[in-house]
Amino acid sequence: MHSVTVVLGGGIGGMVAANEIRRQLPTAHRVVLVEKNAQHAFAPSFLWLMTGDREPGQICRPLAGLLRRGVELVHAEVTGIDTSRRKVRTSAAEIAYDHLIVALGASLAPDAMPGLAEASHTFFTLEGSARLRDALRSFSGGRIAIVVSAMPYKCPGAPHEGAMLIADFFRRRGLTGKVDVHLFTPEPQPMPVAGPRLGEAVQGMLQSRGVEFHPLHRLMRVDPAAREMEFEKGTRAGYDLLVAVPPHRAPRVVVEAGLTNQAGWIPVDARTLRTNQDGVYAIGDVTSIPIPGRWKPDVPLMLPKAGVFAHAHAEVAARQVVAEVTGRACEAAFSGDGYCMLEAGGDLAGFAFGNFLAEPSPTLQLRETGKFWHLGKVLFEKWWLAPVGLRRSLIGSLVKAGGRFHGVPVSL
Ligand SMILES: Cc1cc2nc3c(=O)[nH]c(=O)nc-3n(C[C@H](O)[C@H](O)[C@H](O)COP(=O)(O)OP(=O)(O)OC[C@H]3O[C@@H](n4cnc5c(N)ncnc54)[C@H](O)[C@@H]3O)c2cc1C
Repeated sequence: MHSVTVVLGGGIGGMVAANEIRRQLPTAHRVVLVEKNAQHAFAPSFLWLMTGDREPGQICRPLAGLLRRGVELVHAEVTGIDTSRRKVRTSAAEIAYDHLIVALGASLAPDAMPGLAEASHTFFTLEGSARLRDALRSFSGGRIAIVVSAMPYKCPGAPHEGAMLIADFFRRRGLTGKVDVHLFTPEPQPMPVAGPRLGEAVQGMLQSRGVEFHPLHRLMRVDPAAREMEFEKGTRAGYDLLVAVPPHRAPRVVVEAGLTNQAGWIPVDARTLRTNQDGVYAIGDVTSIPIPGRWKPDVPLMLPKAGVFAHAHAEVAARQVVAEVTGRACEAAFSGDGYCMLEAGGDLAGFAFGNFLAEPSPTLQLRETGKFWHLGKVLFEKWWLAPVGLRRSLIGSLVKAGGRFHGVPVSL
């Protein structure tokens, strides 16, 4: 019998999952991908859009061009998931599935924080990054506050990269003394999942670029008229330009389907990405995976929401589905390995890597800041946005070779 696998969401995880299943299964088995946006925007490059180093056209591609032939793309909004009837409702049609991969990512909810939406810019969306670029260009001096408004958020490196790139933007324009850059976060240190040593190293990077770091600042509200943030315990801080990492939420459709846990995300088996529903997998930002040794009720640290994990999850879930369809055994399991090139400005980047599921707690390292890692990130961007047929070409080999050369498991 021929199967139907439906993948919900055509971002990083969904795209890889659909392409991988299509590559591994005979074409008689259908692979359907449902995505509301016709264009795919590469989020890591939003930071370069903000600094004026990229134009939107350079970091967006029609999604159809990134998919393997034979993946059926349904350009529609997912409006319902009925796991008991094995059906999904979309704005275009109802689709029955044998296997379902939920890759709907995390939605941004700036309205969840009083005053934030009207007061702040963000580099967490394509449009927001373009608007912020214009605001930075016309900013001639004062205090810029970057605020992590709530946990969890995607890409634990992004607020730090954003702060360093903004500081570098003004250094390049000769305005260093006139612009103060501050980073506020509820976290006790930068990237707490990575442990204290890496946190100290990132704090050192921030300091050397003139970014003032304010940990343990939980935002309660923003007063746009007074240009002031209010934090837990009544502390206040003013700003002239506010840049926010907005609160994140699982998309409403997965909450309404009853797939989420108390924390609001989809719990999955950390190794197989199976949910508690038969035939249903969830991957990437929409999931909740506790980190060994760093999971406490008051500090609920989860596997970071990052493209590198969405990608690795997708490969595992794809192989699990293929094994179920073909009746073969499957040994594919998510290893927990991850990495991140941390942009620091001046065409330099650091490189953090390690295993996030290691017992008793994650083991992460930070390689010294250098041009190599920045180039690696640029190369990765080119590879990611290349038409699917070209991906296995020279660019892919170079990125892979770079990862192996440094002894780091870089999964493409
Ligand atoms: C500024 C920034 C920098 C980043 N830098 C890095 C980095 O350097 N390294 C890294 O690893 N990660 C980085 N990330 C994080 C990375 O982009 C995400 O973790 C990754 O995209 C998650 O993949 P995903 O497939 O789970 O979700 P997404 O890529 O967000 O895809 C979800 C898809 O689902 C679609 N969708 C949602 N709801 C519906 C619906 N109801 N109907 C139809 N479609 C729907 C969305 O349109 C979207 O295309 C960065 C993120 C940002 C914002």
